[in-house]
Amino acid sequence: MDSIKTPQTSSPAAASWHSLAAEDVLKRLQTTAEGLSHQEGQQRLARHGPNVLERQSQSGPLRVLFRQINNPLIWVLLGSAVLAIALGKVTDGLVVLAVVVLNTVIGFVQEFRAGRAIEALSRMVPELTAVLRGGHKVTVPAAELVLGDVVMLASGDKVPADLRLISVRNLQVEEAALTGESVPVMKQLRPVAEDAALGDRSNLAFGGTLVTSGTGTAVVVATGGHTELGRISKMLGETVDLQTPLTKALATIGRFLTIGILAVSVVLLAVGLLRGYAVGEALLVAITLAVAAIPEGLPAIVTIALAIGVQRMAARRAVIRKLPAVETLGSTTVICSDKTGTLTRNEMTVQALWTPAGGWTMSGVGYAPEGRLHQKGVPVDGVPEAARELLRAGALCNDAALQSKGGKWELTGDPTEGALLVAAEKAGLPVEELCERFPRVDAIPFESESQFMATLHEDGEDRRSIFLKGAPEVILRRCALPEGLRPEGVLAEVERMAEGGMRVLAVASKAVPATHERMEPEHVAGGFSLLGLQGMIDPPRQEAIAAVRACHEAGIVVKMITGDHQKTAESIGRELGLHGTGPALTGRQLAELNDHQLAEAGATTNVFARVAPEHKLRLVRALQARHQVVAMTGDGVNDAPALKQANIGVAMGITGTAVSKEAADIVLMDDNFASIAAAVEEGRRVYDNLIKSLAFVLPTNLGLALILAFGVAFFPIQEVGGALAPLMPMLPTQLLWINLVATVALALPLAFEAKEPNVMQRPPRSPSGPVLSRFVVVRTLVAAVLMAAGAIGLFLWEYTSEVGRSGHAVALREAQTMAVTTVILFQIFYMLMCRSLKGSIFRLGWLSNPTVFVGIGVLVLLQLGFIYLPFMQKVFGTSALDWKALGMSTLVAVVILPVIGAEKLWRSRRERTSLDRREPPRGLRVGPRLPA
Ligand code: ATP
Repeated sequence: MDSIKTPQTSSPAAASWHSLAAEDVLKRLQTTAEGLSHQEGQQRLARHGPNVLERQSQSGPLRVLFRQINNPLIWVLLGSAVLAIALGKVTDGLVVLAVVVLNTVIGFVQEFRAGRAIEALSRMVPELTAVLRGGHKVTVPAAELVLGDVVMLASGDKVPADLRLISVRNLQVEEAALTGESVPVMKQLRPVAEDAALGDRSNLAFGGTLVTSGTGTAVVVATGGHTELGRISKMLGETVDLQTPLTKALATIGRFLTIGILAVSVVLLAVGLLRGYAVGEALLVAITLAVAAIPEGLPAIVTIALAIGVQRMAARRAVIRKLPAVETLGSTTVICSDKTGTLTRNEMTVQALWTPAGGWTMSGVGYAPEGRLHQKGVPVDGVPEAARELLRAGALCNDAALQSKGGKWELTGDPTEGALLVAAEKAGLPVEELCERFPRVDAIPFESESQFMATLHEDGEDRRSIFLKGAPEVILRRCALPEGLRPEGVLAEVERMAEGGMRVLAVASKAVPATHERMEPEHVAGGFSLLGLQGMIDPPRQEAIAAVRACHEAGIVVKMITGDHQKTAESIGRELGLHGTGPALTGRQLAELNDHQLAEAGATTNVFARVAPEHKLRLVRALQARHQVVAMTGDGVNDAPALKQANIGVAMGITGTAVSKEAADIVLMDDNFASIAAAVEEGRRVYDNLIKSLAFVLPTNLGLALILAFGVAFFPIQEVGGALAPLMPMLPTQLLWINLVATVALALPLAFEAKEPNVMQRPPRSPSGPVLSRFVVVRTLVAAVLMAAGAIGLFLWEYTSEVGRSGHAVALREAQTMAVTTVILFQIFYMLMCRSLKGSIFRLGWLSNPTVFVGIGVLVLLQLGFIYLPFMQKVFGTSALDWKALGMSTLVAVVILPVIGAEKLWRSRRERTSLDRREPPRGLRVGPRLPA
């Protein structure tokens, strides 16, 4: 085949596939309704390239660079550089410039990398699509789609490319991504006018739009950049927003700090002038204060800590789609989780059969198709006819497939349906043969809302059969029962199975004339005869049981929400160790409650059964009305509103629909509840580390400001070159050295700090609590005062003891070097204390965060250079210190260890007493366990 001819209108890009009949489209694309062959698919892929969109990135290099430069501090620094040069201090000015450039480069590189990493992760969730290749349904990555591929669409899918529909069943597509219109449009097959607007091309499905209901098949007519979305995607950016509540709070704090610091600078300027400084000198001091006191390294540190959190969550199978979720996870108080596949293994095995003629249990586990029927523990010879009919209908009304691969059985499709296939095989009914004998004519797929599935089959010469399976209440309503059997009797049987934790499906059948081609809703509304019940177990995941316990310890309430039967839900709830005050609340009961009653019931009940997606939305709202921070899982199309409403929407990576993933804040790559608990733990760790960085950085800035202010206000004035100038404990360049080099080198490792031993043994953080808690403020004051006192004390001691011996200039240099060194040593010790906010650092393990020692090692080397290298001495105005001076600095700096240690001890004593008096989370009552 040469190239595929696309029908062209005046513009080559705007193919008018919508004006052609479906057969013509297939013909032009040299394909059939059976799809391409596998080989042809590969060849077309090689020829036309993959189906991917080039997207513009929000974190492109220029934007990130602009963010670095567009910072008031940079302007202050540049101003001070210019001023220094104007005053003849050329070296000083150049050093400031160099530090500005260095700081910008470091911030740029770090933030750029972090942004890229986060973006890459948000794309980690694979997009798969079902296509027909060589007549078989296979699942391929959406990127491998080519022109002419026949795609199968189902409700919840994201349309993978531009498609011309060739069959539809109630197919509705939401095209907001393209047209902005969020009301779904009904699709159909007839050609439409060539000049129809995009929204009116109702026989096309556009890439990037979402299937909200129904099914369809369609042929690919445009891929990648040639799709409608591809053509506008240059306008659309990948919206990876690097802002979170915390970064916003910090930005606000930063603004206030800057204003405050500028005000203090002005005061300092006035004080300097009053004391008789030369104007230039006084100005320089004021600007130096600003430089010293603004925590310029902080934004980069925050971004990096968040990025590390995102990466570690991904390693634990939770992919963050929206960055603020990293923080919100840490304050989650309630997790509402689906049952099947998330809390349980989703490995269904049929264990019990019941028919109006009798009941049996089934031996044999897993997918191994060998087993026997037992009655009251005694093996049954042969399979009774009633059981045979039940199993046959269950295997035919089924979309799953069982394939033998190298002696092992592999299941594709829904595990519930897989279990029915396995059960049939076990009883000696080969599924493949059944499907050949009773070819399927039509089907109504299973949906959580309807809770049933129906298929129409050929059944001999003169008739066809409809098989129906689903939730027993739903099926029974459509059945006429044999004499002597009442619905209550059947439902009692259902309860008996469900009490053992089994999921129960009822199966029914009905004969229809051979002319029957299509099933409409009225055909499945009644007139069925009940074939029986199949009960299957799906054991809880062991790791989910452990994770539920971990959540309880962490003060998080776990609620299970399931479409299953009330008794099944209660039984599984008990196995999982969920707290609850009584029987499960059902969707129907829930629907009858008003919002106020629901809030009350939602707070006390932890197991919800037979719940429909719209109930989930109400439940989230009810919990939020009680000030809970709610994480909610979901996988279906109709879960999307609840996922959006929840504080943390959690979608399933394997079984989830594209629609639910789009709506979610995080996606679980393994569909496992334990990954949510892991993400919560990481979320708490990230937040801890951010506060640690904050508690480390702020005292440095405050301390430096105190040192300077003290100098200006109280130190003697000296005459330099005919003008009066203050005797300063540190030079501006030295302050910059501390604030930009040392602080960043030491604060960054804190972002890598491992989790505190008790992260999951304390209650969730209040989302409304201030970032600058009293704890951080007190810690900042204590450390800053200590640091300033130590540095000023040593400065004075060194200067006064040295000035008589070596004169003013030498003594000043030495004293300043000593003050800077003291601050740096102080920071090193203080940083070690910050590794745990409130706990003892000795409980952390020395090697739990090796980056700490890398940071310290690098800084010690740099500081030695700062003191002893002639080049650095010249630039920073330092001079070599002897051992005695170094020893004194170390001795003074180390004082921080016992001081902060004592403060931690006092705090932990106080918290322990208040912990004993603590109440459970507000608005939530955690009742006793369900009776065993
Ligand atoms: P969750 O993941 O929220 O726990 P669920 O898997 O328990 O959801 P659904 O899949 O909506 O809930 O199933 C609800 C009920 O529908 C089941 O209890 C069962 O009776 C019935 N059912 C489930 N799967 C099928 C199916 N493939 N065909 C027919 N009926 C089904």
